[in-house]
Amino acid sequence: MAKETKFYDALGVAPTASDAELKKAYRKAALKYHPDKNPSPEAAEKFKEISHAYEILSDDQKREIYDQYGEEGLSGQGGPGMNADDIFAQFFGGGFHGGPQRPSRGKDIKHSISCTLEDLYKGKTVKLALNKTVLCKDCDGRGGAEGKVQQCPDCHGSGMKFVTKQMGPMIQRFQTVCDKCQGTGDLCDPKDRCQTCKGKKTQSERKILQVHIDPGMRDGQRIVFSGEDDQEPGVTPGDVVFIVDEKPNQDFQRKGNDLYKEYEVDLLTALAGGEIGFKHISGDWIKIPITPGDVISPGEIKVVEGQGMPVYRQGGRGNLLIKFTVKFPESHFADEDKLKELANILPARKEVKVPSGLEVDECDMVKYEPARHQQTRRGDAYDSEDEGHGAGGPGVQCASQ
Ligand SMILES: [Zn+2]
Ligand SMILES: [Zn+2]
Repeated sequence: MAKETKFYDALGVAPTASDAELKKAYRKAALKYHPDKNPSPEAAEKFKEISHAYEILSDDQKREIYDQYGEEGLSGQGGPGMNADDIFAQFFGGGFHGGPQRPSRGKDIKHSISCTLEDLYKGKTVKLALNKTVLCKDCDGRGGAEGKVQQCPDCHGSGMKFVTKQMGPMIQRFQTVCDKCQGTGDLCDPKDRCQTCKGKKTQSERKILQVHIDPGMRDGQRIVFSGEDDQEPGVTPGDVVFIVDEKPNQDFQRKGNDLYKEYEVDLLTALAGGEIGFKHISGDWIKIPITPGDVISPGEIKVVEGQGMPVYRQGGRGNLLIKFTVKFPESHFADEDKLKELANILPARKEVKVPSGLEVDECDMVKYEPARHQQTRRGDAYDSEDEGHGAGGPGVQCASQ
């Protein structure tokens, strides 16, 4: 269930909305509030609001974080958000102004980074090599000598142009590669072409990125390297985004900043005290004394304050919650004298009080054996004919008194 619904409300959809419903809601609202259609300042504000909401909700990762932690969870994730016009242009492919356009911003690329709970407790640094395209250093991305490269007059540097074609009764517009400049967007005498990139304006580079996983980071959290994606002339490079992928831990579960652990305590310690101990995510051992007389019941949860996960960028730590199971002795663990002693020590037996006037059936119990005792099919077979004889199958023998 979503923690807050502000972004859903902005688009007028339920938090359970599908991608298609989100798209539809955004399309409708964006066309209504776009500044070209609706010049009022309120509409401009609303346009920004719905664009931001759509930007978050149309991204699976961001939507997940938002649903789980609300808007707060998305802050401090770095990287500038897209502006409303970019989102609009991306959605409608060019905005109202039309005309062939190169994308103004490159796509982001995402990598997932596998992290154990220990990694997210202590933090770690991962070095990753990246092969990226960068602007040619010899020509500064011009593709040729300075002042010798002209923008293509046919496509105005975009490398693409529109052509119209008659298709039967219809006239259709197509976007094609500009034939005058072969899609490069500029014209240059071959002798002035850059020898290093052969006019391509870019070259390949190997780059090492150091990704810092900070203590307390969460599953799905993003580490953004702004503008580290491939460079291309006239285009703002996209971001390289690393996404924390938290691997499950055998002994601890994590919920937010808290850690959960199941612990099996022996009956004697649960009743008479002693100590418990286990290895913590930190690598250290934890020892906790159990005060005699502080009885631990099966299923009981106790809290060790401040022994949870570190709180991301705030310092301090969450809590460690221990859920107890109690290990009872096997059957026949003691002789009769010992059991009599127990009767003196433990609280008195609970008496079975039968309200007067009711009959009592004295029964026996045996060990449960699924193969023998599962009665799912019996119910069907004995449905109507044998009504009333279904109860008291094998294993539970009753004698009426
Ligand atoms: Zn051209
Ligand atoms: Zn070059």
